[in-house]
Amino acid sequence: MPTETFEFQVEARQLLQLMIHSIYSNKDVFLRELVSNASDALDKLRLAALRDDSLDADVSDLHIELEIDKDAHTLTVRDNGIGMSYDEVGQLIGKIANSGTAEFLRELREAKDAAGAEGLIGQFGVGFYSGFMVADEITLLTRRAGETEGTRWTSRGEGTYTLEEADAAPQGTSVTLHLKPADPDNQLHDYTSVWKIKEIVKRYSDFITWPVRLVGEPESEGDGPAEAETLNSMKALWARSRGEVSEDEYHELYKHISHDWREPLETIQLQAEGTFEYQALLFVPSHAPHDLFTQNSQRGLQLYVKRVFIMDDCEALLPPYLRFVKGVVDAQDLSLNVSREILQQDRHIRMMQRRLTKKVLSSVKTMMAGDAERYTTLWREFGAVLKEGLVTDSDNRDAVLAVSSFATTHGEDETVTLKQYVERMPDGQEDIYYITGESRQSIDNSPHMEAFRERGIEVLLLTDPVDEVWVDAVGEFEGKRLQSIAKGEIDLDAQGDEESEGEREKQAEEYGGLLGWMREQLDEDVKEVRLSSRLTVSPACVVADAHDLTPALENMYRAMGQ
Ligand code: ADP
Ligand code: MG
Repeated sequence: MPTETFEFQVEARQLLQLMIHSIYSNKDVFLRELVSNASDALDKLRLAALRDDSLDADVSDLHIELEIDKDAHTLTVRDNGIGMSYDEVGQLIGKIANSGTAEFLRELREAKDAAGAEGLIGQFGVGFYSGFMVADEITLLTRRAGETEGTRWTSRGEGTYTLEEADAAPQGTSVTLHLKPADPDNQLHDYTSVWKIKEIVKRYSDFITWPVRLVGEPESEGDGPAEAETLNSMKALWARSRGEVSEDEYHELYKHISHDWREPLETIQLQAEGTFEYQALLFVPSHAPHDLFTQNSQRGLQLYVKRVFIMDDCEALLPPYLRFVKGVVDAQDLSLNVSREILQQDRHIRMMQRRLTKKVLSSVKTMMAGDAERYTTLWREFGAVLKEGLVTDSDNRDAVLAVSSFATTHGEDETVTLKQYVERMPDGQEDIYYITGESRQSIDNSPHMEAFRERGIEVLLLTDPVDEVWVDAVGEFEGKRLQSIAKGEIDLDAQGDEESEGEREKQAEEYGGLLGWMREQLDEDVKEVRLSSRLTVSPACVVADAHDLTPALENMYRAMGQ
């Protein structure tokens, strides 16, 4: 097959342009990305070999190799992992499949100024393409484990790439960067410097569980050919005690497993001893992914068994309402062959899930008490997901409720927990009042609010779809009913004086004729017409029965086709 030339997909081209014009101030991270990919490829091969005895692959010395060639001015990152087939190279390297990337590019186009764009870019991972920050040409040679034909991919990052078959490709992938001239003023270092490469690997990839070896090039003339040297310690961070590991090291592990370039918001460690031993290192991201509420979003933790990577996205380890949590769980006594199906039913996995859930919730609680700002970020990003737990996890409902907070009529930016709400309830108020709706603005303007505003009664403003559901599931808090101000009869005056009772009867008599007439006129549309103490300005409002669906819920069910 002759060499074929392809155009990059539009999005890929845009990203490459960003790379070539060196958007990241810290260009060293290209190596982290390539080592991370190599590590993933080794994980995948080990798993594939484990699952399929007949796979014709060499798994005897899985490792990553870095090779410096000063004369050619190249740096090569090589792994003997799973590799890619001809078609896969086109799919994986030529296109951008990640939906987050498209979203990112859209945000970038909408960014108002260069500084805004810079901020966005700094947070976004571009994986393989980051090589073009430091190289003006990249060659990738790969052979999929078990296949005989290899593939060579080359590109200068300028809109096209070429693909050709390659005969003598070793198993796995090697990525050769034809380095740009060093330009220290622009953070473009000399990546043929042994010292520099060692420093970068130590900083970003120390925890990688495969050996990262440096081969070739002796450091000074006359040293003779250098022995391959392993640059990383390969220590599993989750197995080390917290005092031994720096925050930076944790963050680099987070970036490797989550493919997020931003720092995590929180690091949570758990080491369970006893009959079923395991270690967990969990992270709460600082930003919600775009697909948190879509069906096929990636969720779940990485599962290791005795330091051996077993699977990504292991959903069984945390309940769905903690799907935003990333991390690693390493268990001592599971079979290396465990499958997703087995995991779902495994007693030990269920135990781990319970323990991990409690640990995450207690960490959030600690954060809430000790670091209000971080808690606010967490709640802003993930509150809508966490609240699903109020409906789905009755065992932990109280714990979830304890870390839940809600917008309130008491302040623009303030949120309040149910506990705080109850504590500041004036004497005589029996219920916790809330209103649901699509946005704060729409409920603020709702006529239902008038009387509450007038009387200074605090109302919780609930605007997430899940709010409609959990308020019913929870029902009450510390003996106080959760009462929608848009449902049923609310007798605000009962809280006040007794006189008004008589007053209202008198009014009912006085307006009896009018009410009767209105009832007749509106017969088709409403069940009842009554005088209300809810309103102060608006002449009338529509109220649902206590057990009716609210309009928002009706819409939700309708959208779900029910
Ligand atoms: P990500 O790692 O976030 O998926 P990358 O841009 O880093 O994104 O890589 C894109 C894809 O290319 C990877 O998901 C993987 O399928 C493939 N790939 C990259 N490097 C390698 C490698 N060394 N071996 C095998 N596949 C690779
Ligand atoms: Mg990657």
